[in-house]
Amino acid sequence: MRKGRSLDLRMMASVGPKLCAGCGACEEACPEVFKLVDRLARVGVDEVPPGAEASCLTAMETAAP
Ligand code: SF4
Repeated sequence: MRKGRSLDLRMMASVGPKLCAGCGACEEACPEVFKLVDRLARVGVDEVPPGAEASCLTAMETAAP
């Protein structure tokens, strides 16, 4: 990285609709990002909001396979 430049890292999330079992674990762990709609998880944001990164990772770790 060049001196004086900042690194802009953004976190994004997605759900594979054919893999979602509708358990709701992701929404429970990170409601800022995941919402259940008709028993399928949806990502409601373009980017994971600042401060929600840890809960988003928790959602990923606790998600049903
Ligand atoms: S944790 Fe996985 S299976 Fe459960 S609602 Fe979220 S995406 Fe679907």
